[in-house]
Amino acid sequence: MERSVDYIIVGLGLAGLAFAEELEAQGRTFVVFEDNSQTSSQVAGGMYNPVILKRFTPVWNAKEQLEVAIPFYKSLEQKLSGLYDEQWPIYRTFKSIEEQNNWFIASDKPVLQDYMEAELAEVDQKYIEAPFKAGRLRHTGRIRVKELLDAYRDHLKSKHLLKEEPFRYESIITWKDYVEYRGLRTGKIVFCEGNGLKKNPFFNKLPLTGTKGELITIHAPDLNLNYVLKSAVFIMPLGEDRYKVGATFNWKDKTNMPTSEGRTELERKLKTVIKCDYTVVGHEAGVRPTTGDRRPLVGVHPSNDRLAVLNGLGTRGVMIAPLMAKKLYQFLENGLPLDKDVDINRFRSKK
Ligand SMILES: Cc1cc2nc3c(=O)[nH]c(=O)nc-3n(C[C@H](O)[C@H](O)[C@H](O)COP(=O)(O)OP(=O)(O)OC[C@H]3O[C@@H](n4cnc5c(N)ncnc54)[C@H](O)[C@@H]3O)c2cc1C
Repeated sequence: MERSVDYIIVGLGLAGLAFAEELEAQGRTFVVFEDNSQTSSQVAGGMYNPVILKRFTPVWNAKEQLEVAIPFYKSLEQKLSGLYDEQWPIYRTFKSIEEQNNWFIASDKPVLQDYMEAELAEVDQKYIEAPFKAGRLRHTGRIRVKELLDAYRDHLKSKHLLKEEPFRYESIITWKDYVEYRGLRTGKIVFCEGNGLKKNPFFNKLPLTGTKGELITIHAPDLNLNYVLKSAVFIMPLGEDRYKVGATFNWKDKTNMPTSEGRTELERKLKTVIKCDYTVVGHEAGVRPTTGDRRPLVGVHPSNDRLAVLNGLGTRGVMIAPLMAKKLYQFLENGLPLDKDVDINRFRSKK
């Protein structure tokens, strides 16, 4: 036997990173497998925002998620000596007086008061038309997910905890007291494969729908935006006059390839928002691990409790991943029950 670890983690996107961090914090040993087959976390806009901007309603469980997520990213900044949490306000432009009124009503609700400013905000950018002004959000920002993942990868490599190769499901052998994987002994395997779950024979029956998203990066020297703008598209400042613009939603195509249709859609929408010159300098795509009921997929295999899953982070992995990783750890190690909303048991037949 080569060696023994408490856990194997499959996948190093936001889910895998959050679970690895939890294990490090708890002093548990582990190794991570990552094969670069999925790109959702790598390309993500990285926004965190506790308000649904279509309807001005609270994001499910937002307060609890943010209470864990913000210190989580802060501690990673210290650990990896990087800057990953950019606390940008978001300006949501209005299309009509009616939308302004809906904003006022929502911002008066106790659950949203802390996040939505009651007064209208001016969009004072020369090249943006916003005749109905905007609403300004607080406690929002952007995690530089790719930079964070790259740094975390280096951190794991330096400790020989990362295997950059596909995890082969058929090589799992379950014994009474442990699981064996190609000469490696482990207590548990946690699958964090994003949309790669579809290839996992243990969990591929879970209703992961997968929603492809594309983003472009533009260079726009005249734009001078120092907040995130949500209009027909999100426009996120990256520094040096570059902005991420996104995102599309495609429920049919499950590939990670950027498409000309995606770029055309984003540019068409962008041109309704900004009136200055720009050049497209980047274009990326990924498949968000979305679920039909918009809740995460957390739990263990019904007939093998050494195999666990942390998935279904959907469109909001930045906020959800740290809390779900903690909940899964507490469930696996201390038997604390999972919330019914996230437990994969909710899909088992009630017969
Ligand atoms: C265009 C776009 C914009 C987005 N914007 C935002 C945003 O602004 N804010 C936000 O919170 N979320 C956003 N998201 C969603 C966010 O990206 C996801 O919620 C989150 O990244 C999912 O993380 P994950 O770790 O579950 O999955 P993934 O990021 O897909 O990670 C899974 C990892 O597992 C690896 N893997 C899979 N199978 C195997 C295997 N057999 N062996 C080894 N490795 C394997 C993959 O290579 C991958 O690295 C966006 C997504 C997209 C596509």
